[in-house]
Amino acid sequence: MPSRGGPRPGLTVYLPRPYPDEMLGSLLIRASHHLGLTSVQLAHVIGVDAHALAHFVIPTGLPRIASLAATPTDKLLLEHTAFPYISLTWDTHAITEHRDQLLRSRPAEPSIWFRSNFPRRPNPAKLRRFCPECIQADIGTYGESYWHRSHALPGVFLCPQHGVRLLLAHVYLFGAISRSTNVLPYEVIGTHADWQADQRQLQTISLATASTLSLPPGAWQHWAAVYRGKLEASGYRDLCDQTVLRKIALDCQGTFGPKFLTSIGLPITFYDSWPSRLATGKALRLQSSFAHILFRVFLESL
Ligand SMILES: [Zn+2]
Repeated sequence: MPSRGGPRPGLTVYLPRPYPDEMLGSLLIRASHHLGLTSVQLAHVIGVDAHALAHFVIPTGLPRIASLAATPTDKLLLEHTAFPYISLTWDTHAITEHRDQLLRSRPAEPSIWFRSNFPRRPNPAKLRRFCPECIQADIGTYGESYWHRSHALPGVFLCPQHGVRLLLAHVYLFGAISRSTNVLPYEVIGTHADWQADQRQLQTISLATASTLSLPPGAWQHWAAVYRGKLEASGYRDLCDQTVLRKIALDCQGTFGPKFLTSIGLPITFYDSWPSRLATGKALRLQSSFAHILFRVFLESL
């Protein structure tokens, strides 16, 4: 049970070190469990506003958390947040600017970058997810389970390590770490989601998505030229022709299926579809990284 008064003034509190592929929010939840502190008390110890600490996905107070967890700040950012995923297509200037903003611990602006890379409407991809086999393996190795970063990405439906379908925990990824959400995977009941796709397709997309976490920020910043070259080499010659763009969108839809694309919040629209935007070098506002991953899977299939 969390103590009522929190730590004694002047007492130095150490946070646990993050486990491999652990989401930063999970580290805070484990810290809360280990130290017997509520999430509000933990925020006080870390030295950030309790509301600012509330996000499971959006990192706040990184320098302070890094110090207390004896882990370099950049290691936390790159290995324990979704930053590598959301920054895949950013240029060098944007990466530097956004990284600096994150390290200044003002969550308002970064909130937009993270939120825009997840489905906007209610969707299973907005819930925390876990792998039952990872729970057993993590308890066997570490004595406790934790929330994996890769499992939180919108395109990861199967555990990249075990190949089994992830279960949904009915706790929102962007919800506050409050009394009711201050839970670890072994403390929740999971349910299945129907993503409207077969196992092979889900596995291909899950592995492609999870692999982006090992890429450096900005790894795909020259995407426009790469996509144009691949499309033209595959027979889509005139990318100024609306008929050609329409065919790209329909072929992309045929690769994944309209029901699946709707289920993940990336349906193909008749006008200005996301595949036609990517084919012509135009940026996307919503779920940009996931759309790029799907488009690359589509291009690989040509
Ligand atoms: Zn697993």
